[in-house]
Amino acid sequence: MIDTDVLVIGAGPTGLFCVHQLGIIGLKCEVVDNLDKIGGQCIELYPDKPIYDIPAISVCTGEELTKNLIKQIKPFKTNFHLGDRVEEVKKVKDNWIIKTIKGKEFNTKSIIIAGGVGSFEPRKFSVKECEKFEGKEILYSVKDKTIFENKTVSIFGGGDAALDWAIELSATSKVQLIHRRDEFRGAQASVDKVKELSKEGKIELLTKYQLSSIKGDKKIESIGIKHDDDDIKNIETDYLLGFFGLIVQLGPITNWGLNLDKKHIPVNTENFETNQKGIFAIGDICTYPGKLKLILSGFHEGALAARGSFKYARLDEKLRFEFSTTSKRVHSRLGIKKDD
Ligand SMILES: Cc1cc2nc3c(=O)[nH]c(=O)nc-3n(C[C@H](O)[C@H](O)[C@H](O)COP(=O)(O)OP(=O)(O)OC[C@H]3O[C@@H](n4cnc5c(N)ncnc54)[C@H](O)[C@@H]3O)c2cc1C
Repeated sequence: MIDTDVLVIGAGPTGLFCVHQLGIIGLKCEVVDNLDKIGGQCIELYPDKPIYDIPAISVCTGEELTKNLIKQIKPFKTNFHLGDRVEEVKKVKDNWIIKTIKGKEFNTKSIIIAGGVGSFEPRKFSVKECEKFEGKEILYSVKDKTIFENKTVSIFGGGDAALDWAIELSATSKVQLIHRRDEFRGAQASVDKVKELSKEGKIELLTKYQLSSIKGDKKIESIGIKHDDDDIKNIETDYLLGFFGLIVQLGPITNWGLNLDKKHIPVNTENFETNQKGIFAIGDICTYPGKLKLILSGFHEGALAARGSFKYARLDEKLRFEFSTTSKRVHSRLGIKKDD
C-alpha cells in the first residue's frame, strides 16, 4: 500500500502542472497513467506539432511542452506509475483506497482526476483466442526488442509504427508484415524502405490479409490469415505485434460514483471538486459553464484543485497564499539556494 497526500490520475499536461502546484504547497503526490510514457495527448497524438497558445511560449511542440513540464517538477521527485490504469476507487473512513489493474494500491486523502478524454488503449485483434496470449506472444507495443532476436515476428498494421518496427526488427528477426490493404498509411520513406527490404527477401509482405485464427495451447504454434478473396494461409510465428492505433476509453471512471455529463465530470469552479468530497477533476475530463478544452485552462484548474486538496491532507493547517518569487518555503521546496 502506497500512502500519499494526493493521487493524480493522468500524466497529460494538466496532471503534470498540477504535480507542480501540489509540490509548491508542500503536498506529496503519486501519478498513475495508462500510457507507457508521460505527456497525454501532447505526446501520444501530436508530439511534433507546434502549439501556439501556451502562455509566454510563442511556439513549442507537444514533445517540447512535455519535456519542460517534466523539468519543472523535477525537484519534487514524483513517482510515476506508467502503463497502469486506475480501476477501483473506494472510500474507507476519511481516505480513498485506489487499486490499479496491475494490483498497486494507494491510500490517499484526495484524488485529482486529470484523465483527459479517458485512457488511451491500443486497438486490439478481434480474434477471441488472442486474449490468452496477450502480454506474452501478442503485444501492442515494444518495450524490449531483444526478445524478438532470431524469432519469427508477424507485424500487423499499415501505419508508421508497423512500418518502423518491421524495418527495425528485420535486421535481427524473421519479419512478416501483414496489412489488410495494399496501401500503407505511413511516411513514404518508410513505405519505400519496406518495399526495398521485401524485394531483398528481408521482410515478407502479405497485403489484403487479416488475422483469422490462432493455433496453440500454452504457446502460439501458428496463425491463420485470411485474404480479401477468402483464401486462408497458415503461417508459423513466435510473436504477433498489432499496431492498429489507439482507442480512448472513459472506462473505469464511470464506476466511481461520480456524476457524469456526456462523458465529462461536472465540477465547481471554486476548486474543481466533483460531487464526491475529496475527488477533483481537471483538464479535458471536467466540465463547467464556459469550459475551454485548452491546456492553459487545465493549468489554472490544476492550481485550484491542488489548493482544494490541501484541506484534506493537512486537517489542522491553513493554507497560506504565497508568491513563488518571494516565498522562502516555496524556494526550499523547489531546492532553490539563496544565491540562485
Ligand atoms: C491534434 C491536437 C492538437 C491540439 N492542439 C492544442 C493547442 O494548440 N493548444 C491547446 O491548448 N490544446 C491543444 N489540444 C488539446 C490538448 O492536447 C488537451 O486539451 C490536453 O492534452 C488536455 O490535457 P489533459 O492532461 O487534461 O488530458 P490528456 O492529455 O488527454 O491526458 C490524460 C491522461 O490520462 C490518462 N488516463 C485516463 N484515464 C486513466 C485511468 N483510469 N488510469 C490511468 N490513466 C488514465 C490517459 O492515458 C492520458 O495519458 C490539441 C489536441 C489535439 C488532439
